[in-house]
Amino acid sequence: MKAKKGMRALSLLIVLALVGAMIVPVVSAEEQNESIEEPTNSQAIFEIVGYTNDFQNNVLSSSKTADSLAKEYGKLNIPSRIERYDIVQFDQVAMKTDQKNSLKVTIYDKEYTMTLGRMNFENIDDGIDSYSGSIEGLDDSVAIFTFDKNLVYGTIQLQDEIIYIKPVQNKEYAMKTAMPLHIVYSSKDVKQAEKPSRIDLDVTPLPNINLSGTYQPVENTESTSSAKSWAYVYVLVATDEEFDELESNWVSAAQSYMAQAAYQYERPDIGVYLNVVKYDSDSVKMASLSGDNRKYSDPLGLFFETFTPSYLDSENADIAIYLGGNDRSGGVQGAAWGYDNYANPNTRNYCRYAWSQMVGDSSDFTYDGSYHARVYCMIHEFGHIFNANHENSGGTNQAYFWYENHIGKWTVMRSLYIGNPQNTWEYSSPSYHGDTDCNNAGAINEVKGNIAGLA
Ligand SMILES: [Zn+2]
Repeated sequence: MKAKKGMRALSLLIVLALVGAMIVPVVSAEEQNESIEEPTNSQAIFEIVGYTNDFQNNVLSSSKTADSLAKEYGKLNIPSRIERYDIVQFDQVAMKTDQKNSLKVTIYDKEYTMTLGRMNFENIDDGIDSYSGSIEGLDDSVAIFTFDKNLVYGTIQLQDEIIYIKPVQNKEYAMKTAMPLHIVYSSKDVKQAEKPSRIDLDVTPLPNINLSGTYQPVENTESTSSAKSWAYVYVLVATDEEFDELESNWVSAAQSYMAQAAYQYERPDIGVYLNVVKYDSDSVKMASLSGDNRKYSDPLGLFFETFTPSYLDSENADIAIYLGGNDRSGGVQGAAWGYDNYANPNTRNYCRYAWSQMVGDSSDFTYDGSYHARVYCMIHEFGHIFNANHENSGGTNQAYFWYENHIGKWTVMRSLYIGNPQNTWEYSSPSYHGDTDCNNAGAINEVKGNIAGLA
């Protein structure tokens, strides 16, 4: 009996202790939430501890802040739908290229460790390098960063939010500023668009070329190389004078978008190393892209003419993408002729090209040229090169739709863009979001050997 009473007392103590332990975290979680809601954070919503200088926190886009800074820092490149942001500057972060880096960071004033390892999608010795990793203690977090001296580009994907870090000065003013200005903002600080913007046409018509004569359909265009082995696809990245002038450094901006694309292509069921051979800063070629009015009507055709297939061959580039600094007329943000042209040897070279608009669309403002929009458009156009296709296109290579926390989400081949969180950067795949009819990862995997053999 005595023993039993003792047991009962003990279990009561245990229960009390457990209840106490349960109460404590609930209270502190509430406190944390309150601090997130607090309108004035003491610091930017994301910082790399020891490397970040708070320039101005909690700026509302409706304020005159950006205008008043323009005199000294130039017009700041802040996409139209961002409603709130922090302005920060960075010291050059000492990153190790050959081992894991552990950086102390703060997210909403709470300290974490961010671990980053060098990504291997390019081997260009220009001091600009990209890293991927995660935030310790935050489940399913993905951090992707590009560092270029004191320019920092980054995204931190959390469960229902993305935090973006990007420089905002143009080239002229960034070169005059010892510590260029950046903005840090959350996807939750971006105004929702009312109606979607079209990314591209279902089929981009080929230029008028003579297809008569020798063409015999190729019997088997499926990749003969094992889909299990990884493919190395070499990419040339090009731009025009407008994008070069718009960005603090167009090369590091481009690399940060390529890092996001490479991350998607390196998923195991895709198995492609997108390898950048060159960020082409040839001034004659840039001037050709900017000096021709087709930049407003047919940037893809202009790109093909300026960067011919034999030029791509000479650079060992299988494929090429043009990051366009002009707003193409007609409400289209990207173009690629696509993998359908691979089978015919007369048209095969056309499937090597993609164009992606980097600036906002003036006709609807939904496609705002933000980091999210640019990366979406690029990964989407690369997808067409690799035989990925839109929703409702028939076949097994379609975009996929699903609900997550009551939000309808699409994979990256959705032809309409409204922003984050609806438009994700991933391809459809039965292994993550997709099914047997919506398997863009499988389509890419099947043809990757052919694309890798183009140069
Ligand atoms: Zn498309």
